[in-house]
Amino acid sequence: MTERFKSKTVIITGGARGMGAEHARAFVREGASVVIGDVLDSDGEALIAELGSQAAYHRLDVADPLAWAEFIAFTEKTFGPIDVAVNNAGVGGSGTSIEDASFQSWRRVLSINLDGTFLGMRAAVRSMRNADRPGAIVNISSVAGIIGTPESADYTASKFATRGITKAVAMEVGRYGIRVNSVHPGYIRTAILGELDDSVVAAKTALPRIGVPRDVTELVLFVASDEASYITGAELVVDGGFSAGSPISLRQSVQEYFKSP
Ligand code: NAD
Repeated sequence: MTERFKSKTVIITGGARGMGAEHARAFVREGASVVIGDVLDSDGEALIAELGSQAAYHRLDVADPLAWAEFIAFTEKTFGPIDVAVNNAGVGGSGTSIEDASFQSWRRVLSINLDGTFLGMRAAVRSMRNADRPGAIVNISSVAGIIGTPESADYTASKFATRGITKAVAMEVGRYGIRVNSVHPGYIRTAILGELDDSVVAAKTALPRIGVPRDVTELVLFVASDEASYITGAELVVDGGFSAGSPISLRQSVQEYFKSP
């Protein structure tokens, strides 16, 4: 096992469960001190008990700027200035058509997925700049930040915008040695997918399976590490080929299309 993150301070939002928890385990294994911010306190505390003294949990609603100030103060006091920030917290969309979509739900999705990423980037850059240190920021977008899907205006807006602000901030802070990239998972087996069946995804991806959190963790660790020292402003897809095209031939698709109502 390499220790790519020895003596580094890493923050992971939405790290109490799902992919964020998998990232936290891996960063700790590679020598980092990790602070997890989430609104699921009991899951967060349970994870910390598993990870030991290299990890800490502090409640953080990523959409709340005041909560961010407290979270950063806690992190810096506990482990020192931030070297790596993983803006991973997110919620799924309402799954309604554009006609039925509620404004309140649209605002909620954008406040967590987009405002949360903006506030996380701002906090991380401030901490890195105050300490005059280089760093890496990884923003978790989605394949929904690359391609359009129906009944998903809220989630799609949040994930396309995450991809955009990643590039804007990367251009701004590269001169300080700070790299900013977005990671775009496809279908990954976590709570956010609900009961989605494997066969539904298998028919849409070049690699016919639902991904597992570890598939994404490997990419997050790489892009946050010094091995990726010339990569910034990039959108890195980990989706089994989902966004690359369709594994169904044109002949098959046309037949399917004319069968449907
Ligand atoms: P998950 O639901 O297991 O994890 C999301 C975490 O974010 C949870 O711990 C949740 O409590 C936390 N969270 C939600 N609102 C928050 C808030 N206001 N403040 C702080 N934390 C909050 O789902 P996951 O699949 O592990 O999702 C992680 C990220 O990956 C999300 O940004 C999601 O949009 C993205 N993503 C997931 C998939 C997938 O198929 N699972 C695909 C593409 C992108």
